[in-house]
Amino acid sequence: MFTVRAQCANSLGRAGTLKLAHGRVRTPAFVPLATRGAVKGLDAQEVAGLGYELILANTFHLMLAPGAELVQELGGLHELMRWSGPIITDSGGFQVFSMGHGAVADEIKGRGRRREEEGRILSIDEDGVRFRSYVDGRERFLGPEGSMAVQAALGSDIALTFDECTPFHVTREYTERSTARTHRWLSRCLRWHEEHGPKQQAVYGIVQGGVEQDLRRESAQAVAASRCDGIAIGGSLGRDKSQMHEVVSWATGELERQAPSRPRHLLGIGEIDDLIACVELGVDTFDCAVPTRLGRHGVALVPEPQARWRVDLFKGRWSHSREPILEGCPCPACARGYSRAYLHYLLRAHELTAVRLLTIHNLSFVARLMGDLRAGIEAGRLAEVAAALRAGAAPQDSAA
Ligand SMILES: [Zn+2]
Repeated sequence: MFTVRAQCANSLGRAGTLKLAHGRVRTPAFVPLATRGAVKGLDAQEVAGLGYELILANTFHLMLAPGAELVQELGGLHELMRWSGPIITDSGGFQVFSMGHGAVADEIKGRGRRREEEGRILSIDEDGVRFRSYVDGRERFLGPEGSMAVQAALGSDIALTFDECTPFHVTREYTERSTARTHRWLSRCLRWHEEHGPKQQAVYGIVQGGVEQDLRRESAQAVAASRCDGIAIGGSLGRDKSQMHEVVSWATGELERQAPSRPRHLLGIGEIDDLIACVELGVDTFDCAVPTRLGRHGVALVPEPQARWRVDLFKGRWSHSREPILEGCPCPACARGYSRAYLHYLLRAHELTAVRLLTIHNLSFVARLMGDLRAGIEAGRLAEVAAALRAGAAPQDSAA
C-alpha cells in the first residue's frame, strides 16, 4: 500500500505514494481535520480543490453524533460528506482520555478545550473507558474492539488502533504501564479487524512511550513487530519544540530500522517549522487543527518565520491595508484580491466569510509548502528547499 519513490540522502526524509481504497495520496502530506465530517467552513469539493488527497475524521465525535449506525445507514462517511478521496479516522483514544487528563489536549493542541466538549470519565479498565457523553449525558463505552467497529462502520480508508494518549506530567511508571496497555490494545484491535474489519481498510498502530527514549524505542519496536499496515506516532512529545523533534526522531529512527517500508503518520503536529523539521525526520503524513483553527481566529499563514509564519488580521493595524493576505498567493482568497482591511473588518463584524477565506488561504499555504518539500525530496535537494522555507521563502508548490 506504500511505495517510497525517493529518499533524501542526508536525512530520513522521503517521498512516497499511499495507495488506499479511495485513491492515492502523495507524501509527505498534510491531512486537514474534518473532525465532525466537515473541514470547518468548507465543503468537500473546496478541500479537494486546494490540493488535498486525504482528510481525517474523528471517531469519538462521530460516534456520539450523528452516530456510526446513522452514518452507515446513509452510505458511510464518504457518501455522507460527498468526499470521494481517502479518509483516515482516529481511534477516539485521544479524546476519551483527554476528558480525564484535561491538560493533555492543552499540551498537545496548544490550547484549552471548550467546557461543553469535555464530558466526563466514569471508569477506565483493561477493556476501555466508560464515560458520560457531552452530547446527551448518556453513559457510553469505548474500547479497542468498539473503536474498530465504529471505524469499520464509518468506512474509513485508514483506521487507527485504540490507545491511551499518555499525558506529559505523569511518572515514568505511569507512562510504562500505559504504553504496555496500548500495545495490548493494538493486538486486540488487529485481531478484531482481521475477523470483522473491511478488507480494504488499512490499520495503523500507534507508538506511545511519552518522553522516555527507551520506552519510545520499545514502543516503536512493538508496533513494527505487529501486522499493522502503517504506524502513527502519538502522545505527549515534550515540553517544547526541540524536545518534540528529539522524541519524534527516536520513533522514526527506530521505525526506519524496523519497518522502513511502512508509512508513518505524526498525530496532532502541524505548525510550519514542525512540518519542515518532521519531514526531514521521516514523517510521511501529518494531521493538525492549527491551520484551520488559526483561520477561525483571524490569523493567516505568511512566509514570516520571525512572526511564527503568522499575521493576525484581527489587529487594528490592518484596518486601512489594501494589500492581500499574501502577495502572489494563488489561493482563491488572495487571487480574488480581498484586502487585509476588508478581512479585518469582516472579522470584527463576525462575518463567516472572513473565516472561510482565511481557512482557504491557510490550507492552500500548507498544501503548497508540503508540495515544495515533496518536490525537494524528489529532486534530491530537500536540505536546500527546507533552508529556503525556514528563511522565509513563500511556498510555490513546485510539485503541482
Ligand atoms: Zn492566499
